[in-house]
Amino acid sequence: MENLQQILVSRPTSLSDGPSLDNFRLVSSPLPALAEGEALVRNHYLSLDPYMRGRMMAGKSYTAPHPLGEVMIGGTAGVVLDSRHPDFEIGCHVVGDGGWQQYSVLSTDAPMPWRRIDPHQLPMSTHLGVTGLPGVTAWYGINRICLPRKGETVVVSAASGAVGSVAGQLARGAGCRVIGLAGGSEKCRVVTGEYGFDACIDYKAHPDLDTLSQALADAAPDGIDAYFDNVGGLLLDAVLGRMNPAGRIAVCGALTRFNDHLHPMHNLSAILTARLRLQGFVIGEHLDLWAAAAQELIQGVTTGQIRYRETIAHGIAAAPQAFLGLLRGRNIGKQLVQLT
Ligand code: NDP
Repeated sequence: MENLQQILVSRPTSLSDGPSLDNFRLVSSPLPALAEGEALVRNHYLSLDPYMRGRMMAGKSYTAPHPLGEVMIGGTAGVVLDSRHPDFEIGCHVVGDGGWQQYSVLSTDAPMPWRRIDPHQLPMSTHLGVTGLPGVTAWYGINRICLPRKGETVVVSAASGAVGSVAGQLARGAGCRVIGLAGGSEKCRVVTGEYGFDACIDYKAHPDLDTLSQALADAAPDGIDAYFDNVGGLLLDAVLGRMNPAGRIAVCGALTRFNDHLHPMHNLSAILTARLRLQGFVIGEHLDLWAAAAQELIQGVTTGQIRYRETIAHGIAAAPQAFLGLLRGRNIGKQLVQLT
């Protein structure tokens, strides 16, 4: 059997440049023979995530750059086809870092442990989205950093996306007034209509600090107590100017660093004057909380308290184009590639 794989063959030259389709190459490789302690997984879904953009670069970050000439990194969900591993029998459903390919070899020494999933509980794809990495990321940022209290106002950026949609719904569940920031009126309709946020600001209709600050003042007349930040830049600057004393900001992502023009910050002094707590986090450093957080999210989804959307591309050949679309905001909810 042949395995179609997407290999990273070149890097974008700067943060604001690319990536482009020619950074990837589709190749076909024979499946390797299994060693003791390994299992062969047929991947059904591939997760596309913004962190992959950072891994394509050669520069310093919290993880090493992804090596050129290797299968692109990525979370997958699939079914075990063959096994020489005592804990993963043929037919069991699993999630792990299978990469951008149709088949993966599961082994116990993978940096992120492979996990079994229950195929009867929720659709397999949800374990890469609402109850997987993005959901658990939202859970951590809300419950460990934003610490929402009933009656407070919480703002979430990239609110229609995989992380933001869950962050906002968790804050809403804690009794807060929740305001989303999203790109475009269609996304804002989903944020309020489907995810139940109280309001949503189309940040693209407010492209400068003054108008965005005014829109925030209108939507949050009592100020902002907590901000779940997925993007940084202008949006963070505008929110900083509206933060209430002792506010909390979870710095989850910095998508605007991929913009052509970086925004000069005007409201940083609010960290001092409003005695704010602003904390970045990397979910991979909190794996001890994963199982409990995922369980809570599964409960939320099965009871209908947490809703989700998926944008699904089809076939491994479509992965690079879908990834570029994610970085341009073409997805609503979790961006996946269906591989079967
Ligand atoms: P999303 O599903 O939210 O997709 C990305 C969205 O970001 C796009 O749809 C787009 O929405 C928005 N976006 C893209 N470029 C920009 C830009 N230049 N300025 C503003 N918004 C932009 O992705 P995820 O939910 O998977 O990830 C959200 C964030 O969470 C990312 O920053 C990611 O890196 C981070 N993350 C962090 C983790 C951690 O451990 N700290 C773990 C997992 C994710 P729109 O059209 O609304 O702009």
